Amino acid sequence: MLTNDQLSQWDRDSFLHPSTHLAQHARGEVQGRIIIGGEGCYITDRDGSRLLDAFAGLYCVNVGYGRTEIADAIAEQARELAYYHAYMGHGTEASVTLSKMVMDRAPDHMSKVYFGQGGSDANETNVKLVWYYNNIRGLPRKKKIISRWRAYHGSGLMSGSLTGLNLFHRKFDLPLDMVRHTTSPYYYRRDTREMSEPLFSAQCAADLEQLIDTEGADTIAAFIAEPMLGTGGIVPPPEGYWEAITPILEKHDILLIADEVITGFGRLGHMFASPAYGLTPDIMTIAKGLTSAYAPLSGSIVSEKVWKVLEQGTDENGPIGHGWTYSAHPIGAAAGVANLKLIDSLGLVENAATVGPYLTAQMQAALGDHAHVGDIRGEGMLTAVELIADRDSRTYFDPDRKITPQIVAAMGRRGVIARAMPQGDIIGFAPPLCLTREEADTVITATTEAVAEVLG
Ligand code: PLP
Repeated sequence: MLTNDQLSQWDRDSFLHPSTHLAQHARGEVQGRIIIGGEGCYITDRDGSRLLDAFAGLYCVNVGYGRTEIADAIAEQARELAYYHAYMGHGTEASVTLSKMVMDRAPDHMSKVYFGQGGSDANETNVKLVWYYNNIRGLPRKKKIISRWRAYHGSGLMSGSLTGLNLFHRKFDLPLDMVRHTTSPYYYRRDTREMSEPLFSAQCAADLEQLIDTEGADTIAAFIAEPMLGTGGIVPPPEGYWEAITPILEKHDILLIADEVITGFGRLGHMFASPAYGLTPDIMTIAKGLTSAYAPLSGSIVSEKVWKVLEQGTDENGPIGHGWTYSAHPIGAAAGVANLKLIDSLGLVENAATVGPYLTAQMQAALGDHAHVGDIRGEGMLTAVELIADRDSRTYFDPDRKITPQIVAAMGRRGVIARAMPQGDIIGFAPPLCLTREEADTVITATTEAVAEVLG
Protein backbone atom coordinates (compact mmCIF):
# COMPACT_ATOMS: atom_id res chain seq x y z
CA MET A 1 0.00 0.00 0.00
CA LEU A 2 1.27 3.44 -0.90
CA THR A 3 1.85 5.91 1.85
CA ASN A 4 -1.00 8.36 2.22
CA ASP A 5 1.12 11.33 1.24
CA GLN A 6 2.25 9.73 -1.99
CA LEU A 7 -1.30 8.84 -3.01
CA SER A 8 -2.49 12.39 -2.29
CA GLN A 9 0.31 13.81 -4.40
CA TRP A 10 -0.58 11.54 -7.34
CA ASP A 11 -4.23 12.48 -6.92
CA ARG A 12 -3.51 16.21 -7.11
CA ASP A 13 -1.01 15.82 -9.96
CA SER A 14 -2.84 13.36 -12.19
CA PHE A 15 -6.56 13.03 -11.55
CA LEU A 16 -9.10 15.36 -13.18
CA HIS A 17 -12.09 14.69 -10.92
CA PRO A 18 -15.75 15.01 -11.95
CA SER A 19 -17.91 17.65 -10.27
CA THR A 20 -14.98 19.07 -8.33
CA HIS A 21 -13.43 22.52 -7.87
CA LEU A 22 -10.41 21.61 -9.99
CA ALA A 23 -8.11 24.44 -8.94
CA GLN A 24 -8.77 23.92 -5.24
CA HIS A 25 -8.26 20.18 -5.59
CA ALA A 26 -4.95 20.64 -7.40
CA ARG A 27 -3.86 23.00 -4.59
CA GLY A 28 -4.83 20.41 -1.99
CA GLU A 29 -7.66 22.53 -0.57
CA VAL A 30 -10.53 20.09 -1.22
CA GLN A 31 -11.47 17.76 1.61
CA GLY A 32 -11.76 14.66 -0.58
CA ARG A 33 -11.44 11.16 0.82
CA ILE A 34 -9.76 8.07 -0.49
CA ILE A 35 -11.99 5.13 0.32
CA ILE A 36 -10.56 1.68 0.87
CA GLY A 37 -13.49 -0.50 1.91
CA GLY A 38 -17.18 -0.81 2.65
CA GLU A 39 -19.58 -3.08 4.53
CA GLY A 40 -23.35 -2.67 4.72
CA CYS A 41 -24.10 1.05 5.10
CA TYR A 42 -20.54 1.89 6.16
CA ILE A 43 -17.41 2.86 4.24
CA THR A 44 -13.86 3.05 5.55
CA ASP A 45 -11.33 5.62 4.36
CA ARG A 46 -7.57 5.21 4.24
CA ASP A 47 -7.18 7.08 7.53
CA GLY A 48 -9.18 4.32 9.18
CA SER A 49 -12.36 6.38 9.68
CA ARG A 50 -15.56 4.38 9.41
CA LEU A 51 -18.48 6.44 8.15
CA LEU A 52 -22.18 5.70 7.75
CA ASP A 53 -22.83 6.55 4.12
CA ALA A 54 -26.30 8.10 4.24
CA PHE A 55 -26.10 8.92 0.54
CA ALA A 56 -25.19 5.39 -0.72
CA GLY A 57 -22.33 6.81 -2.81
CA LEU A 58 -24.39 8.83 -5.27
CA TYR A 59 -27.77 7.27 -4.39
CA CYS A 60 -26.60 4.10 -6.05
CA VAL A 61 -25.23 1.46 -3.65
CA ASN A 62 -28.76 0.32 -2.92
CA VAL A 63 -27.93 -3.13 -1.53
CA GLY A 64 -25.12 -1.72 0.61
CA TYR A 65 -21.38 -2.30 0.39
CA GLY A 66 -19.45 -5.56 0.54
CA ARG A 67 -22.04 -7.94 -0.93
CA THR A 68 -20.00 -11.02 -1.77
CA GLU A 69 -22.86 -12.47 -3.86
CA ILE A 70 -22.38 -9.69 -6.41
CA ALA A 71 -18.58 -9.69 -6.17
CA ASP A 72 -18.57 -13.46 -6.81
CA ALA A 73 -20.92 -13.11 -9.81
CA ILE A 74 -18.64 -10.46 -11.31
CA ALA A 75 -15.51 -12.58 -10.73
CA GLU A 76 -17.13 -15.67 -12.23
CA GLN A 77 -18.28 -13.73 -15.29
CA ALA A 78 -14.83 -12.19 -15.75
CA ARG A 79 -13.22 -15.62 -15.58
CA GLU A 80 -15.71 -17.26 -17.93
CA LEU A 81 -16.23 -14.48 -20.46
CA ALA A 82 -15.12 -10.94 -19.65
CA TYR A 83 -16.60 -9.45 -22.79
CA TYR A 84 -18.66 -9.99 -25.83
CA HIS A 85 -20.66 -7.36 -27.68
CA ALA A 86 -24.41 -7.14 -28.17
CA TYR A 87 -24.44 -5.89 -31.78
CA MET A 88 -26.35 -7.73 -34.51
CA GLY A 89 -28.33 -9.83 -32.10
CA HIS A 90 -25.40 -11.11 -30.00
CA GLY A 91 -25.65 -11.52 -26.27
CA THR A 92 -24.41 -13.40 -23.25
CA GLU A 93 -26.28 -15.50 -20.74
CA ALA A 94 -25.97 -12.64 -18.25
CA SER A 95 -27.28 -9.90 -20.55
CA VAL A 96 -30.23 -11.96 -21.80
CA THR A 97 -31.12 -13.08 -18.27
CA LEU A 98 -30.94 -9.52 -16.98
CA SER A 99 -33.19 -8.23 -19.77
CA LYS A 100 -35.79 -10.84 -18.75
CA MET A 101 -35.46 -9.90 -15.05
CA VAL A 102 -35.83 -6.18 -15.80
CA MET A 103 -38.88 -6.71 -17.98
CA ASP A 104 -40.46 -9.00 -15.36
CA ARG A 105 -40.22 -6.09 -12.92
CA ALA A 106 -41.17 -3.25 -15.30
CA PRO A 107 -44.80 -2.12 -15.74
CA ASP A 108 -46.82 -4.41 -18.04
CA HIS A 109 -47.06 -2.00 -20.96
CA MET A 110 -43.26 -1.84 -21.32
CA SER A 111 -41.71 -4.08 -23.96
CA LYS A 112 -37.89 -4.20 -24.25
CA VAL A 113 -34.74 -2.89 -22.58
CA TYR A 114 -31.61 -1.44 -24.23
CA PHE A 115 -28.52 -1.49 -22.01
CA GLY A 116 -25.96 1.34 -21.77
CA GLN A 117 -23.39 2.26 -19.15
CA GLY A 118 -24.73 5.13 -17.05
CA GLY A 119 -27.75 7.35 -16.61
CA SER A 120 -26.40 10.12 -18.83
CA ASP A 121 -25.83 7.92 -21.86
CA ALA A 122 -29.21 6.22 -21.30
CA ASN A 123 -30.89 9.61 -21.63
CA GLU A 124 -28.85 10.36 -24.77
CA THR A 125 -30.19 7.05 -26.14
CA ASN A 126 -33.74 7.99 -25.14
CA VAL A 127 -33.64 11.25 -27.07
CA LYS A 128 -32.27 9.50 -30.15
CA LEU A 129 -35.00 6.86 -29.93
CA VAL A 130 -37.64 9.60 -29.65
CA TRP A 131 -36.26 11.41 -32.71
CA TYR A 132 -36.11 8.15 -34.66
CA TYR A 133 -39.68 7.36 -33.54
CA ASN A 134 -41.05 10.62 -34.92
CA ASN A 135 -39.03 10.39 -38.14
CA ILE A 136 -40.47 6.92 -38.77
CA ARG A 137 -43.95 8.28 -38.03
CA GLY A 138 -43.41 10.98 -40.65
CA LEU A 139 -43.26 13.81 -38.09
CA PRO A 140 -39.75 15.24 -38.69
CA ARG A 141 -40.57 18.58 -37.03
CA LYS A 142 -41.70 16.99 -33.76
CA LYS A 143 -38.30 16.87 -32.02
CA LYS A 144 -38.00 19.26 -29.05
CA ILE A 145 -37.78 17.83 -25.56
CA ILE A 146 -39.32 19.57 -22.56
CA SER A 147 -37.62 19.10 -19.22
CA ARG A 148 -38.06 20.92 -15.91
CA TRP A 149 -35.93 23.45 -14.09
CA ARG A 150 -34.05 21.67 -11.27
CA ALA A 151 -34.25 18.33 -13.08
CA TYR A 152 -31.12 16.20 -13.21
CA HIS A 153 -30.79 13.90 -16.20
CA GLY A 154 -27.00 13.67 -16.53
CA SER A 155 -24.14 15.76 -17.81
CA GLY A 156 -23.61 14.78 -21.45
CA LEU A 157 -24.42 17.16 -24.30
CA MET A 158 -28.11 16.28 -24.50
CA SER A 159 -28.56 14.87 -21.00
CA GLY A 160 -26.76 17.93 -19.57
CA SER A 161 -29.12 20.12 -21.59
CA LEU A 162 -32.10 18.25 -20.13
CA THR A 163 -30.71 18.86 -16.67
CA GLY A 164 -32.23 22.05 -15.27
CA LEU A 165 -29.44 23.17 -12.94
CA ASN A 166 -27.29 26.17 -13.90
CA LEU A 167 -24.00 24.61 -12.83
CA PHE A 168 -24.31 22.03 -15.59
CA HIS A 169 -25.00 24.63 -18.30
CA ARG A 170 -22.81 27.57 -17.37
CA LYS A 171 -19.71 27.93 -19.56
CA PHE A 172 -20.58 24.77 -21.50
CA ASP A 173 -22.84 26.46 -24.08
CA LEU A 174 -25.78 24.40 -22.87
CA PRO A 175 -28.68 23.80 -23.06
CA LEU A 176 -28.75 22.78 -26.71
CA ASP A 177 -31.40 24.30 -28.91
CA MET A 178 -33.75 21.31 -28.94
CA VAL A 179 -34.45 21.53 -25.21
CA ARG A 180 -36.96 23.67 -23.30
CA HIS A 181 -37.46 23.84 -19.54
CA THR A 182 -40.70 24.33 -17.69
CA THR A 183 -41.65 25.09 -14.08
CA SER A 184 -40.07 22.99 -11.37
CA PRO A 185 -42.65 21.14 -9.24
CA TYR A 186 -41.05 22.47 -6.07
CA TYR A 187 -43.90 23.53 -3.83
CA TYR A 188 -41.79 24.83 -0.96
CA ARG A 189 -40.06 27.31 -3.28
CA ARG A 190 -43.27 28.53 -4.92
CA ASP A 191 -43.52 32.27 -5.64
CA THR A 192 -46.95 32.78 -4.11
CA ARG A 193 -46.99 31.78 -0.45
CA GLU A 194 -50.78 31.53 -0.20
CA MET A 195 -51.11 29.07 -3.10
CA SER A 196 -52.35 25.59 -2.07
CA GLU A 197 -50.56 22.47 -3.29
CA PRO A 198 -53.28 21.49 -5.82
CA LEU A 199 -53.37 25.05 -7.14
CA PHE A 200 -49.59 25.06 -7.49
CA SER A 201 -49.81 21.78 -9.44
CA ALA A 202 -52.47 23.33 -11.67
CA GLN A 203 -50.12 26.28 -12.22
CA CYS A 204 -47.26 23.93 -13.24
CA ALA A 205 -49.63 22.24 -15.70
CA ALA A 206 -50.80 25.59 -17.08
CA ASP A 207 -47.18 26.69 -17.52
CA LEU A 208 -46.45 23.48 -19.42
CA GLU A 209 -49.46 23.93 -21.67
CA GLN A 210 -48.48 27.54 -22.33
CA LEU A 211 -44.96 26.45 -23.33
CA ILE A 212 -46.37 23.80 -25.66
CA ASP A 213 -48.68 26.39 -27.24
CA THR A 214 -45.85 28.88 -27.68
CA GLU A 215 -43.53 26.33 -29.28
CA GLY A 216 -46.26 24.50 -31.20
CA ALA A 217 -47.23 20.96 -30.20
CA ASP A 218 -46.11 19.78 -33.62
CA THR A 219 -42.51 20.61 -32.59
CA ILE A 220 -42.54 18.87 -29.17
CA ALA A 221 -41.59 15.19 -29.09
CA ALA A 222 -41.25 14.33 -25.42
CA PHE A 223 -41.44 15.45 -21.81
CA ILE A 224 -38.72 14.03 -19.54
CA ALA A 225 -39.06 13.96 -15.78
CA GLU A 226 -37.92 12.21 -12.66
CA PRO A 227 -41.13 10.88 -11.05
CA MET A 228 -39.81 12.56 -7.90
CA LEU A 229 -37.26 15.36 -8.24
CA GLY A 230 -33.83 14.12 -7.07
CA THR A 231 -30.65 16.17 -7.30
CA GLY A 232 -32.68 19.37 -7.74
CA GLY A 233 -33.76 19.13 -4.10
CA ILE A 234 -35.29 15.71 -3.24
CA VAL A 235 -38.85 16.95 -3.70
CA PRO A 236 -41.89 14.66 -3.88
CA PRO A 237 -44.38 15.84 -6.51
CA PRO A 238 -46.97 18.23 -5.10
CA GLU A 239 -50.53 16.96 -4.67
CA GLY A 240 -52.28 16.55 -8.02
CA TYR A 241 -49.13 17.25 -10.07
CA TRP A 242 -48.96 14.12 -12.20
CA GLU A 243 -52.73 13.99 -12.57
CA ALA A 244 -52.57 17.49 -14.07
CA ILE A 245 -49.52 16.93 -16.30
CA THR A 246 -50.22 13.59 -17.99
CA PRO A 247 -53.48 14.52 -19.81
CA ILE A 248 -51.66 17.47 -21.40
CA LEU A 249 -48.98 15.16 -22.77
CA GLU A 250 -51.57 12.74 -24.11
CA LYS A 251 -53.60 15.53 -25.69
CA HIS A 252 -50.57 16.83 -27.61
CA ASP A 253 -49.10 13.44 -28.60
CA ILE A 254 -46.00 14.05 -26.44
CA LEU A 255 -44.09 11.03 -25.16
CA LEU A 256 -43.30 10.71 -21.47
CA ILE A 257 -39.74 9.69 -20.53
CA ALA A 258 -39.71 8.76 -16.84
CA ASP A 259 -36.15 9.05 -15.57
CA GLU A 260 -36.06 6.37 -12.87
CA VAL A 261 -32.28 6.40 -12.46
CA ILE A 262 -32.67 7.16 -8.74
CA THR A 263 -36.13 5.76 -8.11
CA GLY A 264 -35.86 2.48 -10.05
CA PHE A 265 -35.47 -0.81 -8.15
CA GLY A 266 -36.93 0.16 -4.85
CA ARG A 267 -35.75 3.50 -3.55
CA LEU A 268 -39.26 4.88 -3.04
CA GLY A 269 -40.52 1.65 -1.52
CA HIS A 270 -41.87 0.40 -4.86
CA MET A 271 -39.98 -1.48 -7.56
CA PHE A 272 -40.55 1.56 -9.81
CA ALA A 273 -41.98 4.97 -8.95
CA SER A 274 -43.95 5.49 -12.18
CA PRO A 275 -46.83 3.09 -11.44
CA ALA A 276 -46.95 4.38 -7.85
CA TYR A 277 -47.61 7.88 -9.20
CA GLY A 278 -50.08 6.61 -11.82
CA LEU A 279 -47.68 7.19 -14.72
CA THR A 280 -47.56 5.06 -17.87
CA PRO A 281 -44.25 6.19 -19.39
CA ASP A 282 -43.32 5.57 -23.01
CA ILE A 283 -39.65 5.21 -22.04
CA MET A 284 -38.03 4.65 -18.64
CA THR A 285 -34.39 5.41 -17.80
CA ILE A 286 -32.71 3.04 -15.34
CA ALA A 287 -29.16 2.91 -13.94
CA LYS A 288 -27.84 3.16 -10.34
CA GLY A 289 -30.08 0.58 -8.58
CA LEU A 290 -29.86 -1.80 -11.55
CA THR A 291 -26.45 -3.02 -10.34
CA SER A 292 -26.28 -1.09 -7.06
CA ALA A 293 -23.17 0.43 -8.71
CA TYR A 294 -21.14 -2.78 -8.37
CA ALA A 295 -20.47 -2.31 -12.11
CA PRO A 296 -21.57 0.43 -14.52
CA LEU A 297 -24.80 -0.38 -16.35
CA SER A 298 -27.88 1.55 -17.40
CA GLY A 299 -30.96 0.90 -19.45
CA SER A 300 -33.67 2.43 -21.59
CA ILE A 301 -36.92 0.53 -21.26
CA VAL A 302 -39.30 1.18 -24.16
CA SER A 303 -43.04 0.65 -24.20
CA GLU A 304 -44.84 -1.57 -26.69
CA LYS A 305 -46.09 1.60 -28.43
CA VAL A 306 -42.53 2.84 -29.03
CA TRP A 307 -41.22 -0.64 -29.81
CA LYS A 308 -43.74 -1.16 -32.63
CA VAL A 309 -42.44 1.96 -34.39
CA LEU A 310 -38.80 0.93 -33.85
CA GLU A 311 -39.60 -2.41 -35.47
CA GLN A 312 -41.25 -0.64 -38.39
CA GLY A 313 -38.22 1.64 -38.65
CA THR A 314 -35.74 -1.20 -39.01
CA ASP A 315 -38.00 -3.05 -41.46
CA GLU A 316 -37.91 0.08 -43.59
CA ASN A 317 -34.31 1.21 -43.00
CA GLY A 318 -32.25 -1.73 -41.84
CA PRO A 319 -30.47 -2.17 -38.47
CA ILE A 320 -30.75 0.69 -36.01
CA GLY A 321 -27.59 2.82 -36.09
CA HIS A 322 -27.15 3.12 -32.36
CA GLY A 323 -24.99 1.22 -29.87
CA TRP A 324 -21.89 1.34 -27.71
CA THR A 325 -19.01 -1.15 -27.56
CA TYR A 326 -19.97 -1.75 -23.94
CA SER A 327 -23.76 -1.96 -24.40
CA ALA A 328 -24.98 -4.80 -22.17
CA HIS A 329 -21.45 -5.49 -20.92
CA PRO A 330 -21.48 -9.01 -19.43
CA ILE A 331 -19.76 -7.97 -16.21
CA GLY A 332 -22.34 -5.24 -15.60
CA ALA A 333 -25.09 -7.67 -16.53
CA ALA A 334 -23.78 -10.35 -14.15
CA ALA A 335 -23.68 -7.74 -11.40
CA GLY A 336 -27.25 -6.74 -12.29
CA VAL A 337 -28.58 -10.30 -12.11
CA ALA A 338 -26.98 -10.90 -8.70
CA ASN A 339 -28.10 -7.48 -7.47
CA LEU A 340 -31.76 -7.91 -8.43
CA LYS A 341 -31.80 -11.34 -6.77
CA LEU A 342 -30.41 -9.77 -3.58
CA ILE A 343 -32.96 -6.94 -3.60
CA ASP A 344 -35.67 -9.60 -3.61
CA SER A 345 -34.13 -12.03 -1.14
CA LEU A 346 -33.28 -9.32 1.39
CA GLY A 347 -36.68 -7.63 1.05
CA LEU A 348 -35.03 -4.28 0.36
CA VAL A 349 -38.01 -2.68 -1.41
CA GLU A 350 -40.09 -3.40 1.68
CA ASN A 351 -37.32 -2.11 3.95
CA ALA A 352 -37.19 1.15 1.96
CA ALA A 353 -40.96 1.43 2.43
CA THR A 354 -40.69 1.21 6.22
CA VAL A 355 -37.29 2.48 7.36
CA GLY A 356 -37.30 5.36 4.85
CA PRO A 357 -40.50 6.95 6.21
CA TYR A 358 -39.16 6.30 9.74
CA LEU A 359 -36.03 8.31 8.89
CA THR A 360 -38.10 11.21 7.50
CA ALA A 361 -40.58 11.17 10.40
CA GLN A 362 -37.87 11.02 13.07
CA MET A 363 -35.97 13.80 11.31
CA GLN A 364 -39.15 15.89 11.46
CA ALA A 365 -39.54 15.12 15.15
CA ALA A 366 -35.92 16.04 15.88
CA LEU A 367 -35.52 19.13 13.71
CA GLY A 368 -38.97 20.26 12.58
CA ASP A 369 -39.16 23.07 15.14
CA HIS A 370 -35.67 24.44 14.57
CA ALA A 371 -35.80 28.14 13.65
CA HIS A 372 -33.65 27.57 10.56
CA VAL A 373 -35.31 24.42 9.27
CA GLY A 374 -37.87 25.35 6.65
CA ASP A 375 -38.95 21.99 5.28
CA ILE A 376 -38.34 18.30 5.92
CA ARG A 377 -39.66 16.06 3.20
CA GLY A 378 -39.17 12.65 1.70
CA GLU A 379 -40.57 9.54 0.17
CA GLY A 380 -39.27 6.00 0.69
CA MET A 381 -35.50 6.05 1.30
CA LEU A 382 -35.05 9.68 0.20
CA THR A 383 -35.13 12.53 2.71
CA ALA A 384 -34.26 16.22 2.56
CA VAL A 385 -33.85 18.89 5.20
CA GLU A 386 -34.11 22.38 3.74
CA LEU A 387 -32.58 25.21 5.74
CA ILE A 388 -33.74 28.78 5.72
CA ALA A 389 -32.40 32.05 7.14
CA ASP A 390 -35.85 33.27 8.16
CA ARG A 391 -38.88 31.00 8.25
CA ASP A 392 -41.54 33.72 8.35
CA SER A 393 -40.31 35.83 5.48
CA ARG A 394 -39.02 32.75 3.59
CA THR A 395 -35.55 34.28 3.19
CA TYR A 396 -32.83 31.88 2.08
CA PHE A 397 -29.25 31.98 3.33
CA ASP A 398 -26.66 33.79 1.22
CA PRO A 399 -25.03 30.92 -0.77
CA ASP A 400 -21.59 32.41 0.00
CA ARG A 401 -22.08 31.43 3.64
CA LYS A 402 -21.96 27.77 2.55
CA ILE A 403 -24.24 26.75 5.39
CA THR A 404 -25.02 23.26 4.14
CA PRO A 405 -21.44 22.34 3.21
CA GLN A 406 -20.49 23.35 6.77
CA ILE A 407 -23.23 21.17 8.23
CA VAL A 408 -22.32 18.23 6.03
CA ALA A 409 -18.67 18.62 7.10
CA ALA A 410 -19.76 18.70 10.76
CA MET A 411 -21.74 15.49 10.13
CA GLY A 412 -18.65 13.92 8.60
CA ARG A 413 -16.75 14.63 11.82
CA ARG A 414 -19.53 12.67 13.56
CA GLY A 415 -19.10 9.74 11.17
CA VAL A 416 -22.09 10.29 8.87
CA ILE A 417 -22.07 11.20 5.17
CA ALA A 418 -24.92 13.31 3.76
CA ARG A 419 -24.93 15.46 0.62
CA ALA A 420 -25.14 19.22 0.23
CA MET A 421 -27.56 19.43 -2.70
CA PRO A 422 -26.92 22.07 -5.39
CA GLN A 423 -28.78 25.40 -5.69
CA GLY A 424 -30.02 25.88 -2.16
CA ASP A 425 -29.33 24.89 1.43
CA ILE A 426 -30.66 21.37 1.29
CA ILE A 427 -29.18 18.40 3.15
CA GLY A 428 -29.88 15.25 1.15
CA PHE A 429 -30.18 11.68 2.45
CA ALA A 430 -30.40 8.59 0.24
CA PRO A 431 -29.00 5.72 2.32
CA PRO A 432 -28.59 2.15 1.11
CA LEU A 433 -31.99 0.43 1.10
CA CYS A 434 -30.73 -1.93 3.82
CA LEU A 435 -30.55 0.88 6.41
CA THR A 436 -31.77 -0.24 9.85
CA ARG A 437 -33.75 1.89 12.31
CA GLU A 438 -30.70 2.08 14.58
CA GLU A 439 -28.63 3.38 11.68
CA ALA A 440 -31.40 5.88 10.87
CA ASP A 441 -31.18 7.08 14.49
CA THR A 442 -27.41 7.54 14.09
CA VAL A 443 -28.04 9.69 10.97
CA ILE A 444 -30.61 11.82 12.81
CA THR A 445 -28.37 12.36 15.84
CA ALA A 446 -25.45 13.44 13.64
CA THR A 447 -27.70 15.79 11.65
CA THR A 448 -29.24 17.37 14.73
CA GLU A 449 -25.85 17.92 16.37
CA ALA A 450 -24.32 19.30 13.18
CA VAL A 451 -27.20 21.73 12.58
CA ALA A 452 -26.84 22.90 16.19
CA GLU A 453 -23.07 23.33 15.78
CA VAL A 454 -23.42 25.50 12.66
CA LEU A 455 -26.73 27.31 13.23
CA GLY A 456 -27.21 27.13 17.00
N1 PLP B 1 -30.83 10.74 -14.24
C1 PLP B 1 -30.98 10.92 -12.92
C2 PLP B 1 -32.36 11.08 -12.35
C3 PLP B 1 -29.87 10.97 -12.08
O1 PLP B 1 -30.02 11.20 -10.77
C4 PLP B 1 -28.59 10.80 -12.64
C5 PLP B 1 -27.39 10.84 -11.79
O2 PLP B 1 -27.43 11.18 -10.64
C6 PLP B 1 -28.49 10.63 -14.03
C7 PLP B 1 -29.63 10.59 -14.80
C8 PLP B 1 -27.15 10.50 -14.68
O3 PLP B 1 -26.60 9.27 -14.38
P1 PLP B 1 -25.01 9.05 -14.54
O4 PLP B 1 -24.36 9.89 -13.52
O5 PLP B 1 -24.88 7.56 -14.29
O6 PLP B 1 -24.64 9.40 -15.92
